[in-house]
Amino acid sequence: MKQVRTTCPYCGVGCGVLARRAEGREVAIAGDPDHPANRGKLCSKGTHLGETTGLEGRLIYPMIGETRVIWDIALDDVSARMANCIAEHGPDSVAFYVSGQLLTEDYYLANKLMKGFIGSGNIDTNSRLCMASAVAAHNRAFGEDLVPCTYDDLDEAELIVLVGSNTAWCHPVIWQRIEAARERNGCKLVVIDPRRTETAERADLHVPIKPDGDVALFTALLAEMAARGAVDEAYLADHCEVPEAYLAGLDAAAHGIEPAIFSRLADLVAASPRMVTLFSMGVNQSASGTDKGNAIINLHLATGRIGLPGAGPFSMTGQPNAMGGREVGGLANMLACHLGFADEERAAVSAFWQAPNLCGGPGLKAVEMFRAVHEGRIKFLWVMATNPAVSMPDAAFVREALARCPNVVVSDVIADTDTARFANVRLPALAWGEKDGTVTNSERTVSRQRPIFPAPGEARADWRIMADVAARLGHGSAFAYTSPAAVFREYAAMTSLAAARGKVLDLTDKADITDAQYDALEPFRWGGVHPLREHFPTPSGKARLVPISPPGLARNGLSLNTGRYRDQWHTMTRTGLSPRLSAHRREPLLEVSPGDAEKAGLVDGGLGQVTTAAGTATYRVAISDGQAEGQVFVPMHWTDAMAASGRTGALVVADTDPHSGQPAFKNVPAALAPV
Ligand code: SF4
Repeated sequence: MKQVRTTCPYCGVGCGVLARRAEGREVAIAGDPDHPANRGKLCSKGTHLGETTGLEGRLIYPMIGETRVIWDIALDDVSARMANCIAEHGPDSVAFYVSGQLLTEDYYLANKLMKGFIGSGNIDTNSRLCMASAVAAHNRAFGEDLVPCTYDDLDEAELIVLVGSNTAWCHPVIWQRIEAARERNGCKLVVIDPRRTETAERADLHVPIKPDGDVALFTALLAEMAARGAVDEAYLADHCEVPEAYLAGLDAAAHGIEPAIFSRLADLVAASPRMVTLFSMGVNQSASGTDKGNAIINLHLATGRIGLPGAGPFSMTGQPNAMGGREVGGLANMLACHLGFADEERAAVSAFWQAPNLCGGPGLKAVEMFRAVHEGRIKFLWVMATNPAVSMPDAAFVREALARCPNVVVSDVIADTDTARFANVRLPALAWGEKDGTVTNSERTVSRQRPIFPAPGEARADWRIMADVAARLGHGSAFAYTSPAAVFREYAAMTSLAAARGKVLDLTDKADITDAQYDALEPFRWGGVHPLREHFPTPSGKARLVPISPPGLARNGLSLNTGRYRDQWHTMTRTGLSPRLSAHRREPLLEVSPGDAEKAGLVDGGLGQVTTAAGTATYRVAISDGQAEGQVFVPMHWTDAMAASGRTGALVVADTDPHSGQPAFKNVPAALAPV
């Protein structure tokens, strides 16, 4: 049996996987001991990948409506729909909604086609729902979307602060690494989270903040460090832009944490120069997510805790290739390769692509995009590798938008998703185990995803589907790729535009690799170990402390929080196939404190209904001491296609962060009732 070295398709840890194919679609899975992200370890989701590679429910032929067609007819149909919309209504009448599940090569071509050749900025990604606020915070503070840490920093830290992250469930291999560091070095662990999660239960200190209390807490911590003389004045003077009188004017009181807990937290922070703050969805999925990211970064900059072993603010991404998408420019408010829309940057990109029709500026971000579909301004939508009818906030509105849209194309591996039901055309894409390309994990390590199986039926790679459509739109010579290696080489060469403008993103040493070298590519990290310490990619060369004000925390009524289960992934189209993974939680639970359950008349094991401004959903009730009074929690995974209840997307209101456009999947005003 041939062994294939590949990468796990789930979370942003980006673990290396060894896959040995047996009979048919059976495959034995082990962790890759030589991969720097996981050193041979896997979590339950990665371990059971072999149970999810069957062909049940797969889309393996192109379909127009319910009719199976050959590829040429499907591609002609998609191209004609797109061309007609552009001719009649202009380039901004078309849009792509893509995914952190796409490989970097797929992402690169989607971005090039939309921004360079169709001439619209209307490409956005489900990564908007995951980490767009971290991107905005990085850009504001560093001048570039850069994660300044690596996983090795977790091994060297004396204090790890987890913010809005149930790491033990959502990034389990990182959690194993943290646990090992605690055992080996006595590293202390603080968890800042409104819920007492499994991660919080095992921390040295759990700080139960109010929902969206992060900005107030980190601002107060910075004020406290200034009061204790723990600010690194020399580092601030030499390497940071600091608004005048900023440190002296911070509000130290508005955090709402018990004084004894705050004091213990401040003692740990003051005593621990080697401190990593690892933050995730509890920070990003908020109407103040960008400010939260900058509040964390401000603390690290002011104390000089960045760019040193064991020190830095560390954003963990949710998806396997959210980072790769950010690098190539797959967000509507970026152009390509960490460049924006300034005239000089547009000119450079236009010349590199030989683009006839470069877009004039940013496109619509995810929530705005579906509003434009609903209003009829977007008349052609191509959804790739994602399920927005379930996963977008205000999912009922998104379904209405899809139903109104005259041209919906869905590329997916699954035939019947909640979104595919609205498609005029369905295109069969390759799944994990069939795809061939690269992904970038949360610490900037680029790894190969390699095929284990041949393509089933007539399924094709996303990059190839897009190149075929581009050719039909008259752009064949700019999309004449014959392999993912060719796409990767062009992307790597294009990073020269970023490097020439002082950015850290630079893969130009890979621009001339042969196909054989691409096939054998070992994991590599762009930007080195600590790209940010002495110099930052801003005009002044200094990092920026961003002045921010905490949002008000007063709230009448309940707050709904949403998140992941340990053994499931997104809308369960893959993990739902594994009996062992499904055994962890068989149905979606409404977790509620004893007091709130009593007030609402809910009983443990009974059914309860959650209602928000967006909709209503029903769940099995689980009364839990881990829930604070006034807060309830439900999982994100269940869909109409699999259950009559527990559809959480219907509950989330489309409230967004003003800087990043990321929706707030946490802290949604809600009410409870028994069923
Ligand atoms: Fe896959 Fe993430 Fe688990 Fe690693 S930690 S095996 S990348 S799901």
